[in-house]
Amino acid sequence: NWKKTFYQYKYSKAVMLLSKLFIPITKDLPAEAKIKSHQLMLRTGMIRQSSAGIYSWLPLGFKIMKKIEKIVKEEQNNIGAQEMLMPTIQSADIWKESGRYDDYGEEMLRISDRQNREMLYGPTNEEQITEIFRSSIKSYKLLPQILYHIQWKFRDELRPRFGVMRCREFYMKDAYSFDLSENDAILSYNKMFYAYLKTFQRLGLKSIPMKAETGPIGGDLSHEFVILADTGESKIYTDKRIFNVPIDKYKSDESSLKKMRNDFSKFYAVTDNKFKAEDFDKNVRKSDQLQTKGIEVGHIFYFGDKYSKSMNCSVDSRDGKKTFVKMGSYGIGVSRLVAAIIEAKYVNEKMKWPISVSPFDVVIIPAVNKNDKSNMTKALKIYKELKKKGIDVLLDDAEDNIANKFKKHDLLGIPFQIIVGSKATKDKFEFKEIDKKSQMLNLNKIIKLLKN
Ligand code: ATP
Ligand code: MG
Repeated sequence: NWKKTFYQYKYSKAVMLLSKLFIPITKDLPAEAKIKSHQLMLRTGMIRQSSAGIYSWLPLGFKIMKKIEKIVKEEQNNIGAQEMLMPTIQSADIWKESGRYDDYGEEMLRISDRQNREMLYGPTNEEQITEIFRSSIKSYKLLPQILYHIQWKFRDELRPRFGVMRCREFYMKDAYSFDLSENDAILSYNKMFYAYLKTFQRLGLKSIPMKAETGPIGGDLSHEFVILADTGESKIYTDKRIFNVPIDKYKSDESSLKKMRNDFSKFYAVTDNKFKAEDFDKNVRKSDQLQTKGIEVGHIFYFGDKYSKSMNCSVDSRDGKKTFVKMGSYGIGVSRLVAAIIEAKYVNEKMKWPISVSPFDVVIIPAVNKNDKSNMTKALKIYKELKKKGIDVLLDDAEDNIANKFKKHDLLGIPFQIIVGSKATKDKFEFKEIDKKSQMLNLNKIIKLLKN
C-alpha cells in the first residue's frame, strides 16, 4: 500500500505525499483578504492569522520564507557582513539614551516586567547594536564592521492590512555598518546596495533602488528598494533603461561599486510623493517612460553619527582622538517578500514560484482512480529516481480528477510538473512548466532540466 510510504520514514526516506502534508487548502475565497497574495497565502494554508496583524507560518509558507532567508543571508555574507542574533525584547533604557523612546510613538509595543522595568518589543535595533558595539570595540583597527541579524520585529501599525505585507509582527533582516570616516561608510553603503540588487535578482524580482528621504540628516544616502508588481502599494515612475544596468558586471572593489551606484542614479526613478510630470518628461524620453506600481521590500540608510553621538559610541582613531563611529542601517522585509513575490509573479490566475524559493522543485501528478493505480506505481518510481538526484519532489497522490488537480497546482505554484497519465509511454513522461506547453521527455532529460 503506497499510502504507507509516507509514514515509513526510515531516516528521510519519507515520500512527500500531498494528501498527507499539512497544507490546509481551502475552497472559498477568504472574505477579509483584499489582495491576491493575502488570498492565496490563506487559501493554500501558508499562514494563519492569530490576531490582527499577527500570523502563524504553516509548513508551506514557512518553507518558502526560509528559502528566501537563506538567499538574503548568503548575499549578506558575500559582502562580509557577519550574522548574529539580538533578542526581540529590549530595555527602554537604551532608547531613552538615543531619545527615541518618546519619539517612536504608538508603533512601539511597550511592556513592563514584574519588577516594573520598562521593556519593549523591538521595532528595529539601532540602539541595541550601538550599545553592543560601544562596549566591545574601542579602536579604529577593528573597523569597518557590518553586523546583521534576522529577527522578528513588532510595530503596532495603525492599520495592519494585506496579510503579511503590512502586519504587526514581521521577520526582518537588519544590518548595521560601523566605519571610521564618512568615506569608508559610503563604501559599506555601496556594498550593501550591491548585495540588495543581487538578493532581489536571485529571488527572480525586478528591483529598483529609489532615492529616499533622509530627513534632518540630509544628503542623498538613502534608498528604498522597490520591486515591480501591478498590485503594489506605491505608484512608481521610472526610466525603463534602469533595468539594463548590468548588475553582474560590477566588481567588489571601491571604484567599481561607486560606478555601479552612479550608473543607477543616472536614471529617473521616484514614487508618487515625489512625482512631477514635467520632471518626468524632461528627464525621460516618452518611449522609455514606465509608470507602474511597486512594493518596498528593502531600505538602506546612512545616518552618520546620529546614534553614536547620542549614545556615546566612539573609537580611538589613528591620531588617538576619540571619534564617533559613522553608521548605516539596512533592512529587508523577509516575511513581506513572501507576499511580494506572489504579487510580482501571479499571472493569468496562476501562481508560479521562482525556482530559487519554490516550496518544491517539481510535483509529480499521476492520474489515479479507484480501479487503476498503475500510474501511481510509475509515479513512485519517478519520485525515487528524482530524490536520488537531490531534487525536492512532491507527489500528488490524490484520487481526484486530473482537472481538479491542475487547478490545485495553479494555486500552489510549484513551477514544474511531471504528469503521469494516458500520454505517458514506457519511458517518456509529460513534463510541463507552469504557463508553458508540455513536452514528452525521458527521465534523464527531465533531471537535467530540473538540475539547471
Ligand atoms: P513602510 O514605509 O512600508 O512602513 P518602513 O520605512 O517603516 O516601511 P523600514 O523601517 O525601513 O520600513 O523597514 C525595513 C523593511 O521592513 C521594509 O522595507 C519592509 O520590507 C519591512 N517592513 C516594514 N514594516 C513592515 C510591516 N509592518 N510589515 C511587514 N514588513 C514590514
Ligand atoms: Mg513603517
